[in-house]
Parts: sequence; C-alpha cells; structure tokens
Amino acid sequence: MPVLNGSTSEAVVIGAGPAGAVAACLLARAGIDTTLIERSSFPRPKLCGGCLAQSGFDRLQSCDLALLPSLESAPVINQLDLHSGVRSLSLRLPCYRVVDRARFDQDLVSASVRAGVRFFPETTAQVAPDGAVEINQKNSDTQTLKPRVIIIADGLKGSSLKHHPAFAWRIARRSRVGIGATIKTLPPLCDPHAITMFHNAHGYLGVAPMHDGRAVVASAADPDWIKERTDAPPLVSLARVLGVELGNLSNARTHGAPPLTRKRSQIEANGRILLVGDSIGYIEPFTGEGMSWAIEDAEMVIEHAIACCNGRYNHGNWTRAHAHAHLRRSMLCKSVLNLLRREMLVRTTMSVCARSPMLTSMLSKSVNKLQQRPSLGMNPA
Ligand SMILES: Cc1cc2nc3c(=O)[nH]c(=O)nc-3n(C[C@H](O)[C@H](O)[C@H](O)COP(=O)(O)OP(=O)(O)OC[C@H]3O[C@@H](n4cnc5c(N)ncnc54)[C@H](O)[C@@H]3O)c2cc1C
Repeated sequence: MPVLNGSTSEAVVIGAGPAGAVAACLLARAGIDTTLIERSSFPRPKLCGGCLAQSGFDRLQSCDLALLPSLESAPVINQLDLHSGVRSLSLRLPCYRVVDRARFDQDLVSASVRAGVRFFPETTAQVAPDGAVEINQKNSDTQTLKPRVIIIADGLKGSSLKHHPAFAWRIARRSRVGIGATIKTLPPLCDPHAITMFHNAHGYLGVAPMHDGRAVVASAADPDWIKERTDAPPLVSLARVLGVELGNLSNARTHGAPPLTRKRSQIEANGRILLVGDSIGYIEPFTGEGMSWAIEDAEMVIEHAIACCNGRYNHGNWTRAHAHAHLRRSMLCKSVLNLLRREMLVRTTMSVCARSPMLTSMLSKSVNKLQQRPSLGMNPA
C-alpha cells in the first residue's frame, strides 16, 4: 500500500468509483496536483448491473478514456426483454456495454495514475469540521491535508461528510434497496444478446451477460417486503417470486445497497467542497444510468474545481450547472419508477404494446430519450 507521508495536494478526490477516478484524471491532465483516496483495496467489487449506457461511453470517449481493456471486451447490447407475470415485451435500446465493475473501475484508476494522480487505496478520508481532510491508513497516524479543492465522490455509502450535517441525505419515502451478485452462467430464460428484466409489485431484477460467460444480477426491492422474507436470502427470495432460476448462489458473493432514491440537502460548500456522482444523490437503477451520470458529473465539475484552485469560484455555480444538466432526466426516471410501482398498469401497457408495434416503438424512443447527451451544464461565469 502506498504511504501518504507528508504529501500535499491542490486537489483531493475522495472515492475511486467512476466519478472520482474520472474527475481525478481530468484534474491531473489540467495540471492540478491531485490525490485520489479510496477506502477499499482495489480492484473492489461493486453492486451494479454493469450496463454502461451509450451516453456514458460517449463521455469517456470525449475525455479520451474509452480505450480501456474492460470496455473492449464488454458485450454490446441493444435489446431489453421485460417480463412481468405472464407478459413479455422486447424493446430496442441504444447500446449498453456490460462491464465488469471491478475491472472497469480499476482501468479508470490506472488511467488516472498514468495521468499523474497519486492513488491511495485502503485509505479512508473524512472532511473535518474545519474543512481539512483527515486521512486514515492502516497502521499509520491520522494525517491532515488542506487542499484548495475537495471533490467528494464517495457514493451512496460514503462516510467522508459525516461531520457535516448540512449535507444530510433526504431519502425518498418509498425508496427501494439494492441487492445483486455475479453468477456463473446466464439463467435459462435470458437471451445472451439482451438485458433481461423481471418485474413485479415488490421490485425488479435485471440480468446481463458478461464478457466471460458469467452474468451480472442486480435488483431493487421494497425493504419491508425483504424484511418479511426469512426463509431464504433476499436475492433468492426475489428471484423465486419473479420466476427466475439463478442457479446455486451459495458460492456467489451478494452485495447490498441502502435505500437508493435519495439526494443531499446541498452539493457544495465553502467554495472548495464539490460533490459528484452518487454522493449527490441517486434514483433507482431501472434505467441503468448511474455510471454515465457519475462520469458526466466528473467531466462537468472540472472547470469549477479549477476555478476553486485559482480562487475564482463563485458559490452556487456547481449547484446550478448540475441542476441544469440533470433536472429533465431525473424527472423522466422518476416517472418510469412511478409506473413500475403499478403492476397492473405495467402489465396492461405491455399487453397493449404486444399488439401495437407503433406503441412499442414509441416506448423504445422514450427510453432512448433518457440517453440523449445533454448540454455540458452552464457557463460558470
Ligand atoms: C442495484 C444497482 C444496479 C445498478 N445498475 C447500474 C447499471 O446497470 N448501469 C449504471 O450505469 N449504473 C448502475 N447502477 C448505479 C452505479 O453503480 C452508480 O451510479 C455508480 O457506481 C456511481 O459511481 P460513483 O463513482 O459516484 O460512486 P461509487 O462507484 O459508489 O464509488 C464510491 C467509492 O467511494 C469509496 N468511499 C466511500 N467512502 C469513502 C471514504 N470515506 N474515503 C475513501 N473512499 C470512500 C467507496 O469505497 C467507493 O469505491 C446501479 C446501482 C445499483 C445499486
């Protein structure tokens, strides 16, 4: 493990998921002395459906970060098969690349290290009440950094802002929790060229084929329903009620995520703390866009971070730019989620679509709209 000893930095990025790794890489390329802190040992597993949307891939290309081994081997999928009860529907999708999250995140971190970022895995960072960054590494004393800008990219389970109640989470009332695993083979009902989604009133479960024959399973379910399932692990119970055969899960490592749909009370502070990616908030994963949004945030935040380093940042610019880029899409995602909670409405829509190719194509188009590349925020001036 690299040791932080006496490092100084203009920028500290906390969390090495896609948001943190891309932000750190772009800062280093802009000539900013950057340290990236990650509490897990890397590569690390991450609960995720692994489906990188075309808009996220486009972003990586525009950052010159798309030539990654994990992306070159990723299956490219443009079909969604949806099953709800006895109804089934296939929709055309814009391209999704199914990445192995452990490899993908490692590739992005490696690219940032090549760009000059100092990377510290197995290291936990917290923003102290006075705004300094306290760093803890195993078997070392706590160290303190005072960078010009702190990018918080620590995701849904992040701990870096626990001394800052002003950033408290607001969790949506009926938010679902996440559960997932990587399994050895694709379940029998799933087409190897499609993302397959199984849905009912309690939640949904998606399966996608990986590059090496394994499959990634990710789901969102009602926490109360999960609590009542005491006879089997949550993922097994959900798969059972949805009619999916996942095979023997006893050797598969399952991962969970806390209530998913949430947002922070604020996303910046003191002209030097800027939040990106899931650490800002998240909406349930049905439309599979979290990674793309995280990458987009990382790309957008750079000009604001540079302004912080130069002492020219105006408070509120990042908040406005972020709201401008996300508002329309988050409203669309929330509408999809509201629809998904109405089992009868979903099934009626599916059976009407099954009889009307025109309606199916309209539905495909509105799913595709979610993927459209928005403008890159607002001018910070
Ligand atoms: C069930 C489920 C399915 C999903 N499926 C998809 C999908 O198919 N497609 C898609 O695009 N998105 C999907 N997502 C969303 C996607 O996984 C996230 O949006 C994405 O990982 C966000 O990236 P991030 O960099 O913001 O955070 P993360 O990837 O969560 O990274 C945060 C990092 O910060 C580290 N960290 C936390 N606290 C600290 C600390 N104090 N100090 C140092 N490090 C810290 C963590 O260890 C972690 O590595 C899914 C999510 C769920 C829950």
